[in-house]
Amino acid sequence: MARTDAIVLGAGTVGTCAALHLAKRGLSVALVDRAGVGEQTSFGNAGIIEGNTVFPPAFPSDFGALLRIALKRAGEANYHLSFLPKIAPWLLAFRAASQPKRLVETAHLIRPLFASAVREHEALLAESGATHFLRKTGWLKLFRRERTFAGLRREFELAAEFGLPLQALDLGGAQALEPSLGPVFKHAVFWPQAASVSNPYGVTRAYAASFRALGGVMVAGDARSLHRSGQYWRLETDEGGLDAPQVVVALGPWAGDLLANFGLRLPFAVKRGYHRHFRGDGNAALSRPLLDADVGYVITPTEMGIRMTTGVEFAARDAAPTPVQFDRVMGQARALFPLGARADQTTWMGCRPCFPDSRPVIGRAPGLNGIWLAIGHAHWGLTLGPATGRMIAAMMVGEAPFVDPAPYRAERFLS
Ligand SMILES: Cc1cc2nc3c(=O)[nH]c(=O)nc-3n(C[C@H](O)[C@H](O)[C@H](O)COP(=O)(O)OP(=O)(O)OC[C@H]3O[C@@H](n4cnc5c(N)ncnc54)[C@H](O)[C@@H]3O)c2cc1C
Repeated sequence: MARTDAIVLGAGTVGTCAALHLAKRGLSVALVDRAGVGEQTSFGNAGIIEGNTVFPPAFPSDFGALLRIALKRAGEANYHLSFLPKIAPWLLAFRAASQPKRLVETAHLIRPLFASAVREHEALLAESGATHFLRKTGWLKLFRRERTFAGLRREFELAAEFGLPLQALDLGGAQALEPSLGPVFKHAVFWPQAASVSNPYGVTRAYAASFRALGGVMVAGDARSLHRSGQYWRLETDEGGLDAPQVVVALGPWAGDLLANFGLRLPFAVKRGYHRHFRGDGNAALSRPLLDADVGYVITPTEMGIRMTTGVEFAARDAAPTPVQFDRVMGQARALFPLGARADQTTWMGCRPCFPDSRPVIGRAPGLNGIWLAIGHAHWGLTLGPATGRMIAAMMVGEAPFVDPAPYRAERFLS
C-alpha cells in the first residue's frame, strides 16, 4: 500500500495549485484525476485574472432583463425548461444573496482573497517558467445602454474605497485602447489591474510541471473510490491503493458526486458556459479581454484565436450541450469587433461550479476529519486558483493563512 502525506483530488487549476503549494511546503503529494491535467473546466475559460472583482454576479433585478432571459433572447443566460424545478431552490438562494446589502457585504468579504489574485499567479508563473502566458493589459467592459452604465455608481464607490483603480471611458477613449472596436457602445470601464492569460490550459499544465519537479506525483484514478481505512483515507487508483491522512477535494463541478457519498450536501450548482474561437478579419486585433456587458459575452485574444465565451446556462451538468447563446449575440458581436471565420471545428462546454453566495468553500469538510474542500470557484477558478492553493496548504500544515478563511467555511450553509 502506497502512502503520501496528502492526496489532492482533481487536477484542474484549483487542485493543481493546492498540490503545488503543498509540495512547496515539503509534503509528499499525489494529484489524482481521471482525465489529464487541466482538461475540464479549467481548459476553456476566458483566461481573465479578475483581481479587480468588486461585486459577484447578481440575479437580474430589472424586469426587462428577466423577460429577455425568460423568452430565451438573452446572451447572458439560457436555461433548460425541464431543469428549472431542480434549480429553483438554488436560484432563490442566489436571488436572496443578490440583494444590494448582501452584495456589498460579499464585496467586503471577498476583497482580501481577490486582492492577492494577480500577485499569486505572477509568483507561480515565474517559478514555473510560464510568464509568457501572462498579459498585464487589464480588461475592458463596454456598455451600450446609459442605464446599465449609470447602475455602476455603487461599484465605483466601493472600488475607490478598496483602492482599486478604474477609468470610465467614452467611445473614443475605449477605441484608443482597442482601435478595432466599432461605434456601437457609449461607455466603457477599463480595469487596468486585471490581468489575463493567453492559454489557461497551458498555465495549469505549467503549474503541474512545477509540482512534478518538486517530487509531486500524478496518479490516474476515480475520486469516488475514496473511503476511510483505519486512521487514513484510502483511494483506489489505477496503480493500486493509496493512503493519506489528509485529502483535498478540488473536483470542480463534480465535487458533489463524492461528497454525497459521505452525506455532505452543500447548495452546489453549475452554470454552464461555452467557447468558440474566431480569426480577426483583416488587420483587426485585440489586446485584452473585453466584456460586452449589455449583450452578454466576452471576447479575448488567445493562442488559439479570438476566444468568445458565453454567459451562463442553467441545465443539468451532464445534459447535451445547447450552445444557442452564440446565435443570440453573433450579430451584435460582429458589429462591435470584426470577427472573421471560425478558428476551430467544435464548441467547447464547461461548468462553472457555484454556490449561491458566489463564494467558494475553502477549508475543512465538516464532520470529515482530514478532508479539505477547495470547491465552488464559480466565475473565478482561474483567478483564485493560486490564492486558494496557498490558503488551503497553509491551513493544512498549521500555518496562519494569509487571509481570514472565515468567509469560505462550508459551515455557513449548515447552520
Ligand atoms: C465559459 C467560461 C468562462 C470562464 N472564464 C473565467 C475567467 O475568465 N476567469 C476565471 O477566473 N474563471 C473563469 N471561469 C471559471 C473557471 O474556469 C472555473 O472556476 C475553474 O476552471 C474551476 O476549476 P476547478 O479546478 O475547480 O475545476 P476543474 O477544472 O473542472 O477541475 C476538476 C477536475 O476534477 C476531475 N474529476 C472530476 N471527477 C473526478 C473523479 N470522479 N475522479 C477523478 N477526477 C475527477 C476532472 O477531470 C477535472 O480535471 C470560466 C468558466 C467558464 C465555463
